[in-house]
Amino acid sequence: MRHRQPAICIRAIDYSETSQVLRFFTRDTGVVPLLAKGSKRPRSSTGGALDLLCEGQLVFSQPPSGAMGALIEFTETTSHMALRSDARRLNAALYMIELIGAMLAEADPHPEAFDLLHNALERLGEGDAPTGAVLAYFQWRMLRHSGLLGQLRRCAACGGDVGRGGNVYFSADQGGLLCPACEGACVEKFRLNAATLTGLATLAAAQGRARTTIKDTMGTKETLTDNQATGVNRLLDYHIAYQLGKPLKMTRHAIR
Ligand SMILES: [Zn+2]
Repeated sequence: MRHRQPAICIRAIDYSETSQVLRFFTRDTGVVPLLAKGSKRPRSSTGGALDLLCEGQLVFSQPPSGAMGALIEFTETTSHMALRSDARRLNAALYMIELIGAMLAEADPHPEAFDLLHNALERLGEGDAPTGAVLAYFQWRMLRHSGLLGQLRRCAACGGDVGRGGNVYFSADQGGLLCPACEGACVEKFRLNAATLTGLATLAAAQGRARTTIKDTMGTKETLTDNQATGVNRLLDYHIAYQLGKPLKMTRHAIR
């Protein structure tokens, strides 16, 4: 079967002198691994080797057997040059595509997640992009989309108020925040500071408004401070590592 879809390259491996094995996140088919025969030739249908994060219209074939599909044509629409020139933004973008590849099964459509990644990369390419806040929003939305976000408003153990004091923890195993009365009984936990709690509340409030786009959320009104974004990013990265059973490779570069 032949498909034509918007797609973002989330993994690129050299396969031979002239070919690559690429993993694309497509809007309507989800993550697909593709053999790109001859893609490294300058006069190929892709115009040369494809790089991580390149975005465009992808034409590919997928055999019904479940065997690896083939790239037929790729027309780049966005090279994301602006974010590639800044290490912090590039690391955040690479973290995002690693997270997509780690969390989503192959050939499972997630158009909302595709739009989220597209918007986040576009935002990171803008000169005034608040990198930490964009990454925090992306992680939050991806976890929520996957049903893994957990209970972040009340204590996951007793359902009580967690308060805003110093002894609020998050347990990935318990699936949410723990109040000071419940945290003592829990071994696996991550301590939150006040900035992280405020950051989580801001993200939840933004999500509460219907059809909020990443641009609205990362605009002047609702954005997270650097401290809040850093706290939320550390927490959600911890949660993701627990869910996946190992940290993402980009964690040490993207999560400060
Ligand atoms: Zn409790």
